[in-house]
Amino acid sequence: MAYEICGASQADILVPQSAATARNLGGSMSVARFLTAAAMAGLMVSVAPAALAQSYPAAKIAGLKAQAVSGVDARAKLAQQMNDQIFSYGELAFQEVETSKYITDVLEKNGFTIQRGVAGLPTGWTATWTHGKGGPVIVLGSDIDGIPKASQKPGVPWHDPLVEGAPGHGEGHNSGQALNVVAALAVKDIMQKENISGTLMLWPGVAEELLGGKAYMVRDGVFKGADAAIFTHVGSTLGTTWGATSGTGLVSVEYTFKGAAAHSAGAPWRGRSALDAVELMNMGWNMRREHLRPEQRSHYVIVDGGDQPNVVPSTASVWYYFREQTFEGISKSYEIGNTIAEAAAKMTDTSVERRVLGTAAPRHFNRPLAEAAKANIDKVGLPKWTPEEQTFAKAVQKNLGSKEKGLAVELDKLSPPVEKPESGGSDDIGDISWTLPTITIVYPSNIPDLPGHHWSNAISMATPIAHKGVVAGSKVVAMTMLDVLTRPELRTQAKDYFTKVQTKDQKYVPMIAANDKPPIEINTDIMAKYRPEMSKYYYDAERYPTYLDQLGIKWPPTELTPPKGGRAD
Ligand SMILES: [Zn+2]
Repeated sequence: MAYEICGASQADILVPQSAATARNLGGSMSVARFLTAAAMAGLMVSVAPAALAQSYPAAKIAGLKAQAVSGVDARAKLAQQMNDQIFSYGELAFQEVETSKYITDVLEKNGFTIQRGVAGLPTGWTATWTHGKGGPVIVLGSDIDGIPKASQKPGVPWHDPLVEGAPGHGEGHNSGQALNVVAALAVKDIMQKENISGTLMLWPGVAEELLGGKAYMVRDGVFKGADAAIFTHVGSTLGTTWGATSGTGLVSVEYTFKGAAAHSAGAPWRGRSALDAVELMNMGWNMRREHLRPEQRSHYVIVDGGDQPNVVPSTASVWYYFREQTFEGISKSYEIGNTIAEAAAKMTDTSVERRVLGTAAPRHFNRPLAEAAKANIDKVGLPKWTPEEQTFAKAVQKNLGSKEKGLAVELDKLSPPVEKPESGGSDDIGDISWTLPTITIVYPSNIPDLPGHHWSNAISMATPIAHKGVVAGSKVVAMTMLDVLTRPELRTQAKDYFTKVQTKDQKYVPMIAANDKPPIEINTDIMAKYRPEMSKYYYDAERYPTYLDQLGIKWPPTELTPPKGGRAD
């Protein structure tokens, strides 16, 4: 499908937000890009504050939403292509080079202004498009990175890597940008046709798996002045939430110990083992964790354990995630970790340094925005799954030892936040959620009850299951964008909830320092090792209707049980 080209004049694109609403999209650098002489004149024009503006009549909004639904349906092919293309890249955190290039190309060809390398992230960007003056600013984000060792052929219901040992989309982060781009293009058409003022800004969750992108974007002012953030994340249903969510926030930190090398057998008394310090730190933490709240989650990997046994390791590193449910809890765990690291260094006569590699605030989502989105979710509903898709999903569940319940067929209710949220994973959308009114919309591109961060979570992600989920999610996002654009009272309510409820007693606590830099070198070695082989499988959308076609995988598949010797673990 040809790219859609923006019909707006250059002038439209260059007009900045009004001074009255004091926009500062993308930080001072990106604002500077917009400040042409003509645009400067625009700054002098006073615009009625959004709160005083009139909401569009309900019937009119319903008509616009119907247009948005058709606009998304008309772009189902683009959604499939983008989803499959990004799936085929399977790039790890901080190395989303092809992915970011591809998405920004699509957006640039559609009239968006791209700023690359935002917040010190080589694969970070913003894509901005404005119509009219003084309208609201909506920021749309979704993560883009993959999972180590999760390479998997889509549509094959057992472990069958495309490239053995290579990364892949074992979470489904290949789908969210396809969803957002399609929603944004559908809404952009409507804004032009109906002359609705506003700014749309798309951005990627870089290195989400390492919680390594969004806090830096927040710190560097990328979202300053925006009215609403709509974040999309793959799931196995269509839904949203408000308030404090289940899960955790975290700090990700690497401790590097330094000792002294020596011949391990010839002169061990001359060495001081950095690996001993790592082991003692881990022992200390594993004992201490019994005396922490059960809701904490913490894990580590030894990044450097020395080179070979006959050399006393002079350096060793261990990488921890300390997760808790509150800002206070996270920093408490982090402090305990630091104390144990220092104690381990003391015991071994080594030294220790630490480096923060990522952070995520606990998430808190905006109630009025979630309620608006939920009304749209109920209108759109879950995709109509075919019997073959259900059979396939059940086969995957069976092969993975999950309950064979198939794909979701019933929507969840929008419940108030639970009093005692469960523990679990983190997402650095948390940092954005404490910066401006934010919601996450999950969409049903994946199969329920899979392990997560696992090759099996990639199985559906370039099949019609994922494509249908993306289209359904895209409709919800487009409709919710229209709510934000045409209902000033919703923007006021969202802002009121943010200031008077969410942040009344708890403010955002950034966990990165002003001079912390994102650890952009991570995963360069893994990608250098696997990219040459992976690149042979990049999707060629000009030659093949779908990625399944390119791989020669029959859909729906008839083989549902792993062949003898096939792996399902
Ligand atoms: Zn994710």
